Amino acid sequence: MNIALLRVDAQCTASGAPCPECGTWPSRVHGSYLRYPADVPSAARSVVLRLLVRRFICQNVSCGRQTFAEQGAVVTCSCTSSNAAAAISSS
Ligand SMILES: [Zn+2]
Repeated sequence: MNIALLRVDAQCTASGAPCPECGTWPSRVHGSYLRYPADVPSAARSVVLRLLVRRFICQNVSCGRQTFAEQGAVVTCSCTSSNAAAAISSS
């Protein structure tokens, strides 16, 4: 099979993420958006990463940060190269 463009859809599977400001574990998802961290060439193909990022609401009333986005994800997939995983975690 000759594939010129490979699109990889990725999403963090953790139930949440701690607030980067106070460390409180959130219970409410505020929303989500798509990020395109990088177009990564893999051999002769171009790999497009499409990462679904969730935003959370910090439940700590004394915390100055009201919402925050989950950070990087590690993708383990036989169809992505190590370059693709590095592009996600470093963006
Ligand atoms: Zn917080």
